[in-house]
Amino acid sequence: MKATGGCYCGEIRYEINGALRITAQCHCRECQYITGGNPAVFAVFSKDDFQYTAGKIATFKRRDLATPVVRHFCSNCGTAIGNKSPTNPNLMIVKIGMFDDQSFFTPMLAIFTCDKQSYHYIPEGIPAFEKRREKS
Ligand SMILES: [Zn+2]
Ligand SMILES: [Zn+2]
Repeated sequence: MKATGGCYCGEIRYEINGALRITAQCHCRECQYITGGNPAVFAVFSKDDFQYTAGKIATFKRRDLATPVVRHFCSNCGTAIGNKSPTNPNLMIVKIGMFDDQSFFTPMLAIFTCDKQSYHYIPEGIPAFEKRREKS
């Protein structure tokens, strides 16, 4: 697929040109901080298919973890752009809220339901995992 997106203030822009690997919603406690409470919804692409085209991202990673996720965000408006995971360095995890056109998105699965809050919604019929999906 081809897609474009950017942060709330418009400083950061990206484009995607490549296959959509998977979509998901994550209920983990960390995502609740980043989103403001709800599960994070995201799409995963090969890192080579994702390119920043404008702006300079800021990054955050926890210092208390051995292999922390690297979170990309806009230092001007605070929009959470996506993550790079040390366990899958060839992937780019992109938040759905930044896409110019979000109509392609439906979550294929839910993860980290161990941290799910009572107000979180999981669509009927999608697989839900207490932690990560088991690698098949
Ligand atoms: Zn911004
Ligand atoms: Zn999460």
